[in-house]
Amino acid sequence: MSLQNQIVQNCPHCQHSQELFFYKSVNITVDPSLKQLVLDGKLNAQLCSNCEKEINIVTDFLYHNMEQRIMLHLKENVDTDELNDFERFQDFKDRGYIYRHVQTYPELIEKIKIFDAGLNDLVVDSIKAELSEILMSSLQEVITEDTEELELNLFFDTYEKSLFKKRLLFVFFLHPSQMMQTSFSLKSFDKTKRKELFNLEALRMQSHV
Ligand SMILES: [Zn+2]
Repeated sequence: MSLQNQIVQNCPHCQHSQELFFYKSVNITVDPSLKQLVLDGKLNAQLCSNCEKEINIVTDFLYHNMEQRIMLHLKENVDTDELNDFERFQDFKDRGYIYRHVQTYPELIEKIKIFDAGLNDLVVDSIKAELSEILMSSLQEVITEDTEELELNLFFDTYEKSLFKKRLLFVFFLHPSQMMQTSFSLKSFDKTKRKELFNLEALRMQSHV
Protein backbone atom coordinates (compact mmCIF):
# COMPACT_ATOMS: atom_id res chain seq x y z
CA MET A 1 0.00 0.00 0.00
CA SER A 2 1.20 3.50 -0.79
CA LEU A 3 0.52 6.24 1.71
CA GLN A 4 -0.39 9.72 0.57
CA ASN A 5 -0.42 12.73 2.87
CA GLN A 6 -1.73 16.23 2.34
CA ILE A 7 -0.69 19.69 3.38
CA VAL A 8 -1.86 23.21 2.77
CA GLN A 9 0.91 25.18 1.14
CA ASN A 10 1.46 28.20 -1.05
CA CYS A 11 2.43 27.79 -4.68
CA PRO A 12 6.09 28.90 -5.11
CA HIS A 13 5.13 30.57 -8.41
CA CYS A 14 1.92 32.48 -7.66
CA GLN A 15 1.64 32.09 -3.84
CA HIS A 16 -1.85 30.68 -4.15
CA SER A 17 -2.64 28.63 -1.05
CA GLN A 18 -3.94 25.14 -1.71
CA GLU A 19 -4.07 21.55 -0.58
CA LEU A 20 -1.19 19.51 -1.96
CA PHE A 21 -0.57 15.77 -1.86
CA PHE A 22 2.64 13.89 -1.34
CA TYR A 23 3.69 10.31 -0.77
CA LYS A 24 5.43 9.20 2.41
CA SER A 25 5.58 5.65 1.24
CA VAL A 26 5.34 4.04 -2.19
CA ASN A 27 4.77 0.39 -2.83
CA ILE A 28 5.75 -0.06 -6.44
CA THR A 29 4.60 -3.68 -6.47
CA VAL A 30 1.04 -2.62 -5.65
CA ASP A 31 1.27 0.66 -7.63
CA PRO A 32 3.73 -0.03 -10.49
CA SER A 33 2.89 3.25 -12.19
CA LEU A 34 4.57 5.12 -9.32
CA LYS A 35 7.97 3.67 -10.13
CA GLN A 36 8.55 5.75 -13.25
CA LEU A 37 7.53 8.84 -11.31
CA VAL A 38 10.15 8.03 -8.68
CA LEU A 39 12.81 7.49 -11.37
CA ASP A 40 11.85 10.79 -13.01
CA GLY A 41 11.90 12.64 -9.69
CA LYS A 42 8.22 13.49 -10.23
CA LEU A 43 6.63 11.43 -7.49
CA ASN A 44 5.32 14.47 -5.68
CA ALA A 45 4.90 16.79 -8.62
CA GLN A 46 1.51 18.35 -9.26
CA LEU A 47 0.05 21.35 -11.01
CA CYS A 48 -0.97 24.47 -9.18
CA SER A 49 -4.76 24.83 -9.16
CA ASN A 50 -4.35 28.52 -9.92
CA CYS A 51 -1.40 29.13 -12.28
CA GLU A 52 -1.05 25.51 -13.45
CA LYS A 53 2.71 25.58 -13.04
CA GLU A 54 4.40 22.55 -11.57
CA ILE A 55 4.88 22.27 -7.82
CA ASN A 56 7.28 19.52 -6.82
CA ILE A 57 7.25 18.71 -3.13
CA VAL A 58 10.62 17.47 -1.96
CA THR A 59 10.18 15.13 0.96
CA ASP A 60 11.55 11.95 2.42
CA PHE A 61 9.77 8.71 1.62
CA LEU A 62 10.01 4.97 1.73
CA TYR A 63 10.39 3.02 -1.52
CA HIS A 64 9.05 -0.48 -1.13
CA ASN A 65 9.43 -3.28 -3.66
CA MET A 66 7.65 -6.39 -2.35
CA GLU A 67 8.78 -8.57 -5.22
CA GLN A 68 12.46 -7.86 -4.62
CA ARG A 69 11.88 -7.57 -0.86
CA ILE A 70 13.61 -4.23 -0.75
CA MET A 71 12.95 -1.09 1.26
CA LEU A 72 14.83 2.09 0.48
CA HIS A 73 14.38 4.97 2.83
CA LEU A 74 15.20 8.39 1.45
CA LYS A 75 15.89 10.79 4.25
CA GLU A 76 18.57 13.38 4.72
CA ASN A 77 19.03 12.79 8.42
CA VAL A 78 17.94 9.79 10.40
CA ASP A 79 18.15 9.95 14.16
CA THR A 80 18.56 6.95 16.39
CA ASP A 81 14.89 7.00 17.35
CA GLU A 82 13.99 6.43 13.77
CA LEU A 83 16.54 3.69 13.37
CA ASN A 84 15.14 2.01 16.47
CA ASP A 85 11.78 2.54 14.92
CA PHE A 86 12.93 0.37 12.08
CA GLU A 87 13.08 -2.44 14.62
CA ARG A 88 9.34 -2.40 14.21
CA PHE A 89 10.09 -3.79 10.80
CA GLN A 90 11.75 -6.82 12.36
CA ASP A 91 9.05 -8.84 10.73
CA PHE A 92 10.25 -7.61 7.32
CA LYS A 93 13.85 -8.42 8.17
CA ASP A 94 12.80 -11.90 9.21
CA ARG A 95 11.26 -12.25 5.79
CA GLY A 96 14.63 -11.46 4.26
CA TYR A 97 14.05 -7.83 3.41
CA ILE A 98 16.98 -5.63 2.48
CA TYR A 99 16.68 -2.17 4.03
CA ARG A 100 18.83 0.76 3.01
CA HIS A 101 18.86 4.33 4.18
CA VAL A 102 19.93 6.85 1.54
CA GLN A 103 20.45 10.56 2.07
CA THR A 104 20.09 11.95 -1.43
CA TYR A 105 17.84 11.43 -4.43
CA PRO A 106 20.66 10.32 -6.78
CA GLU A 107 21.64 7.67 -4.22
CA LEU A 108 18.07 6.41 -4.17
CA ILE A 109 17.96 6.11 -7.96
CA GLU A 110 21.31 4.34 -7.91
CA LYS A 111 20.12 1.76 -5.37
CA ILE A 112 16.96 1.12 -7.41
CA LYS A 113 19.10 0.53 -10.52
CA ILE A 114 21.54 -1.75 -8.67
CA PHE A 115 18.79 -3.95 -7.25
CA ASP A 116 16.88 -3.94 -10.55
CA ALA A 117 20.05 -5.29 -12.18
CA GLY A 118 20.14 -8.03 -9.55
CA LEU A 119 23.42 -6.85 -8.06
CA ASN A 120 24.75 -6.89 -4.53
CA ASP A 121 25.02 -3.20 -3.63
CA LEU A 122 27.86 -3.70 -1.16
CA VAL A 123 30.04 -5.21 -3.88
CA VAL A 124 29.08 -2.35 -6.22
CA ASP A 125 30.10 0.08 -3.45
CA SER A 126 33.53 -1.52 -3.24
CA ILE A 127 33.92 -1.25 -7.03
CA LYS A 128 32.93 2.42 -6.77
CA ALA A 129 35.56 3.05 -4.12
CA GLU A 130 38.18 1.53 -6.37
CA LEU A 131 36.98 3.43 -9.44
CA SER A 132 36.79 6.77 -7.71
CA GLU A 133 40.41 6.48 -6.61
CA ILE A 134 41.48 5.79 -10.18
CA LEU A 135 39.30 8.60 -11.53
CA MET A 136 40.48 11.11 -8.98
CA SER A 137 44.12 10.45 -9.69
CA SER A 138 43.63 10.77 -13.44
CA LEU A 139 41.54 13.91 -12.98
CA GLN A 140 44.26 15.39 -10.84
CA GLU A 141 46.59 15.17 -13.80
CA VAL A 142 44.35 17.21 -16.08
CA ILE A 143 42.78 19.65 -13.67
CA THR A 144 44.77 22.57 -12.45
CA GLU A 145 42.31 23.67 -9.78
CA ASP A 146 42.80 22.61 -6.22
CA THR A 147 41.56 19.03 -6.31
CA GLU A 148 40.96 19.02 -2.57
CA GLU A 149 37.92 21.12 -3.29
CA LEU A 150 36.58 18.88 -5.98
CA GLU A 151 33.90 16.40 -5.21
CA LEU A 152 33.63 13.43 -7.49
CA ASN A 153 30.11 12.17 -8.02
CA LEU A 154 30.03 8.59 -9.20
CA PHE A 155 26.91 6.52 -9.69
CA PHE A 156 26.09 3.09 -10.98
CA ASP A 157 24.05 3.26 -14.17
CA THR A 158 23.59 -0.10 -15.91
CA TYR A 159 24.84 -3.63 -16.14
CA GLU A 160 25.74 -4.34 -19.74
CA LYS A 161 25.77 -7.93 -20.77
CA SER A 162 26.60 -9.15 -24.26
CA LEU A 163 28.12 -12.30 -25.66
CA PHE A 164 31.65 -11.04 -25.34
CA LYS A 165 31.59 -8.62 -22.51
CA LYS A 166 29.97 -8.12 -19.19
CA ARG A 167 30.54 -4.80 -17.58
CA LEU A 168 29.09 -2.30 -15.18
CA LEU A 169 28.58 1.20 -16.50
CA PHE A 170 28.93 4.18 -14.23
CA VAL A 171 28.38 7.89 -14.73
CA PHE A 172 30.58 10.42 -13.01
CA PHE A 173 31.00 14.16 -12.86
CA LEU A 174 32.65 16.93 -10.95
CA HIS A 175 30.00 19.28 -12.20
CA PRO A 176 26.56 18.06 -13.37
CA SER A 177 26.99 19.85 -16.70
CA GLN A 178 29.89 17.55 -17.55
CA MET A 179 28.57 14.05 -17.19
CA MET A 180 31.00 11.34 -18.21
CA GLN A 181 30.86 7.59 -18.37
CA THR A 182 33.20 4.89 -17.22
CA SER A 183 32.97 1.13 -17.07
CA PHE A 184 34.16 -1.75 -14.99
CA SER A 185 34.74 -5.03 -16.77
CA LEU A 186 33.82 -8.18 -14.91
CA LYS A 187 36.91 -9.75 -16.44
CA SER A 188 38.89 -8.29 -13.60
CA PHE A 189 36.79 -10.31 -11.16
CA ASP A 190 37.58 -13.90 -10.31
CA LYS A 191 34.83 -16.48 -10.01
CA THR A 192 34.26 -15.93 -6.30
CA LYS A 193 33.99 -12.18 -6.68
CA ARG A 194 31.54 -12.53 -9.57
CA LYS A 195 29.40 -14.86 -7.55
CA GLU A 196 29.40 -12.38 -4.72
CA LEU A 197 28.34 -9.56 -7.06
CA PHE A 198 25.17 -11.42 -7.98
CA ASN A 199 24.49 -12.79 -4.53
CA LEU A 200 21.62 -10.85 -3.03
CA GLU A 201 20.75 -13.66 -0.67
CA ALA A 202 23.91 -12.93 1.34
CA LEU A 203 22.48 -9.46 2.03
CA ARG A 204 19.24 -10.88 3.34
CA MET A 205 21.07 -12.76 6.07
CA GLN A 206 22.20 -9.57 7.75
CA SER A 207 20.23 -6.66 9.10
CA HIS A 208 22.22 -3.94 7.43
CA VAL A 209 21.15 -0.36 8.04
ZN1 LIG B 1 0.56 28.76 -8.78
